[in-house]
This record gives sequence, structure tokens and C-alpha cells, in this order.
Amino acid sequence: MASVSASLESATRGAKSSAALEFLKSAPKKLLINGKWVPSKSGKTFETLNPANEQVLALVAEGDKADVDEAVKYARKAFEDFKWANLSPHARARFLLKIADLIEQHADELAELETLDNGKPLFESANIDIPGAAETFRYYAGFVTKIYGETNPSDPSMFNYTLREPVGVCGQIIPWNFPLLMASWKIAPALACGNVVILKPAEQTPLTAIRLGELICEAGLPEGVVQIITGFGPGAGSSIAEHPDIDKVAFTGSTEVGKIILKASAGNLKRVSLELGGKSPNIIFPDADMPSAVFGSALGIFLNQGQVCCAGSRVFVQESVYDQFTDSLSQMASTLTLGNPLDPNTRMGPLVSKEQHDRVKGYLKAGKAEGAKAKIGGEPGKQEAGYFIQPTVFTGVNNQMKIAREEIFGPVASAIPFKDETDVVLQGNDTDYGLAAAVWTKDINRALTVARKLKAGTVWINTYGILDPMSPFGGYKQSGFGRELGKYAIDLYTQIKSVWCKIG
Ligand code: NAP
Ligand code: MG
Repeated sequence: MASVSASLESATRGAKSSAALEFLKSAPKKLLINGKWVPSKSGKTFETLNPANEQVLALVAEGDKADVDEAVKYARKAFEDFKWANLSPHARARFLLKIADLIEQHADELAELETLDNGKPLFESANIDIPGAAETFRYYAGFVTKIYGETNPSDPSMFNYTLREPVGVCGQIIPWNFPLLMASWKIAPALACGNVVILKPAEQTPLTAIRLGELICEAGLPEGVVQIITGFGPGAGSSIAEHPDIDKVAFTGSTEVGKIILKASAGNLKRVSLELGGKSPNIIFPDADMPSAVFGSALGIFLNQGQVCCAGSRVFVQESVYDQFTDSLSQMASTLTLGNPLDPNTRMGPLVSKEQHDRVKGYLKAGKAEGAKAKIGGEPGKQEAGYFIQPTVFTGVNNQMKIAREEIFGPVASAIPFKDETDVVLQGNDTDYGLAAAVWTKDINRALTVARKLKAGTVWINTYGILDPMSPFGGYKQSGFGRELGKYAIDLYTQIKSVWCKIG
């Protein structure tokens, strides 16, 4: 059981950014409503921990329904005043560029805060999360001036054109695995389209969203355009999903909660977009470039300790190379240094929370009980404190086992043998999910054929996990609906008005 840490110093051991420490000292952290930082109406707070040592980093305001109501009131006002939507697109774009610049200027601080709060290696926060967040704001800054309507081929006695207008007040609920990056995937396109937002970060990782809120204030956005409500799912999250005056809800997280959000949205028929879980097939044919396939597969399942919605958690390996490939993957896993994620040499940190640690330990047990063999790992880390799990490669897995069907969200690869192309397409698609997939082969015809047959929102060929703000991301089947990123996010955050004008 965690208690308030004796000193922030020990909770942040290894941190170098004085700005990050200053930020943590000024806790308890508040809610951002109408451009001001305010305590929750109930006065309640909750602890956010460093999962590498289980010590408290900060107390954070616990927003609930009353705070969401307040946030919606001001967000609605900001939207109806057209403070944001009616700014010239050039001016709105400059605000987004300014936010991107501020993220970059504070990159070291944000990377350390992310690593402290989430446990991911600094190597990843500094090279993936923070630059990715800045790039997302910059990408959507470019879109503000390019959101076009159309002139429609109407009868000559009429002039008919379409306008793409913002949806309104957008509730955005995000998970803990890529806290700042997920915040930017949500906020940047919404703002680009002229919406106002209420963001609820995950209770495990609120810190970088709060810091982003401060940077957004520093960028000078009109008040009421962005609210940040920290708190719990039942409470802050459910109040957003149910609120009668929120026009759209965008959610990333578990399929289970996605279904709750969808039901809750029915009250006022909110627009909904859902980016949910996955159990992505990563397919290795014998003619693949093996060193690349091993490296890419390791990245696909061990990045961020496997807490990635598009993780390549089902590794399908053709029978003739199954032993050789799983040996090499295990060998690569053995080289990943587990430890304090703030150490730049660490390649695997702890999982985000005790709950997640318990869940993943449960899956390790279930895998063994069903007869799978841990070729490497299969156990928690040996560290004195922190939620560590050893990188694990399970062999002897079949696609019906629990570890092949359920999203583990940990550093656990389930390696499943297959016979041929037909067999692997059938097995790969035999899942409730459809977020991502990968295929490794030097045969371009086979690669393109299999890519076409896989039921997934993203397919990688001879690579894994590449994401870019310009390319859409989202799921087939129970991995959700709607596409974030690219021009597709503009569809999520605009609605179309058809205007008719009689001529003559
Ligand atoms: P989760 O419960 O789905 O959390 C995602 C977000 O939804 C958080 O902000 C959470 O708030 C909020 N939330 C929870 N219950 C809610 C409700 N009834 N109404 C509105 N919002 C609600 O995910 P989790 O419990 O953190 O993780 C459980 C599993 O979900 C993981 O093991 C993994 O399998 C999956 N997951 C998937 C993704 C993904 O990217 N697709 C991300 C995270 C987790 P609080 O955190 O404050 O409770
Ligand atoms: Mg934390």
C-alpha cells in the first residue's frame, strides 16, 4: 500500500530536469476550467505514483460530475461565443504551432514527467512520446487552413455548397499508455476544426496532460477552449460520456469501457469515436529477413512494456522456422535492460500500476496452466520495488488459449505456429479484435495478398508499429470505429452543412 512519500526526492530518484521537479513541488494539481486552475468542488484529491518505486509523485484534484458540469458550462459558452471557431484559420493555426513549439521547448521536462508517472523508459518518452505530441499539433496546425467545403453540381437555378463546421463541445477520455501523445491525438484535430474540448486523462498518468494544459494557457488560447478534468473513470469519465450538453465523445481505452461509453452516449445521441483494444497478429514467413523480423517483433511486443493497443501480441511463425525464430526472439528479449526507466540505458521499465501488474501476472499463470512454455521470462522482475515483469516469450501456444485471445497489455509474446498462408490468414483473423497486423516476407505478392486479407485497421509489411500523424489509425471489429490521425480525424471533428441558395 503506497503512502505519501517521505520526500519527493526519493520518489523522483534519477530525475535530472529541475523544471519537472519544480512542477511536482507545486502540487496538489488542479483542474483547468475556463482558463483557470481550480480545486475540485468536492475538495478531493488522489495520488499519482511512480510505478518504478511505488512512491507518490503528486496529489491531483479528483474531478467528478459537479466539475464536469462546470467545465461543460464554460466550454459551451466559449463555443457559442465563437471565440475559437470564428478566429481566422491563420490565427488558429498559429496557436497550434505555438503549442507544438512549447512542447518542444519543454521536451526534457515533459519526457521526465512522462517517465516518472507512467514508468516507460526515458529513451521512449524522449524519442517517441514527446516529439510525437509536438508533431501532431504541428500537423493539425497545417490542416486548419485546408478544411474545405464543396460546391455541388446543382441545377443552374440553385447554388448549393457545403460547409464543414465544428461539432461543438468534445469530451475526450484517454488511457495511461501514451499519456501526452494520446492527449495530442485528441486535442489537436479537435481544435484545428474549431471545437472546444474537455479532456480527462487516466487516473494513473495525469501529470503531462496537466502540464500540457499549462502550456496551452501559455500559448494564449481563449479561455474555455480547453478544459482538463483529472479524476476517475466512474465519476469524471462517466459524467463526460453521459453529459447531455456534450456533442461528441472520443475515447481510447479498453473494449469493455468503450461499450459503456457507447451506451452512455445514447442519451443525447453524441457522436462517438472509439479506439479500443487489440490482439494483433504479427506473421513471420520463412522467407522473411530474419534479423529484421526478430528486431521488429521484439519492438512490436516489448515497446512500452507491451502496453500498446497495437502490440504484436500473437506472433504467428511458420512451422519450419518456429524454433529458430522463437529462440532468436527470446535471445533479443534477454538483452533488454530492465530497471529505473529514467536511466537512459534502460529499455524496459515497470508496468503502469499494481492493477496492471496483477493482471499480467494472472495471464502468465494462465498461460502456463494451459500448457504454454515460457522460453524466456514468465515471471515478475526481480527488482525490490516497482511493477516489473520480465519480457516473456510463450511457445507452444494455440490460438484458442486465453493468452492468445485476451489483450494482456504486458511484455508477453504468444508464439503460435502455422502451416501456410491460408492457415495463418484464418487464424490471424480469428479474434474479436482488428486493430493492427504485420506480415514479414520478401515475397511482395504474398505480402500484398495477406495485407489485403487481414481484417485490421493498420497492416505493416516488414516493419512494426510505425505511426505518423499523416496516416489514419483505428480499428476493425471490436477494436472500435472512427479513424484518428490524417485527414480522417477531420471527419471526426466536423459536421457538414449543405447550404442552398436560389439564383435569380
Ligand atoms: P480503461 O478503464 O478503459 O481506461 C481508459 C480511460 O477510460 C481512463 O481515462 C479511465 O479512467 C476511463 N474510464 C474507465 N471507466 C470509465 C467509465 N465507466 N466511463 C468513462 N470513462 C471511464 O482501461 P484500464 O482499466 O486503465 O486498463 C484495462 C485494460 O484496458 C488494459 O489492460 C488494456 O487491456 C486495455 N487498455 C487499452 C488501451 C488502448 O490504448 N486501446 C489503453 C489502456 C488500456 P481512469 O483511468 O481514471 O479510471
Ligand atoms: Mg503515476
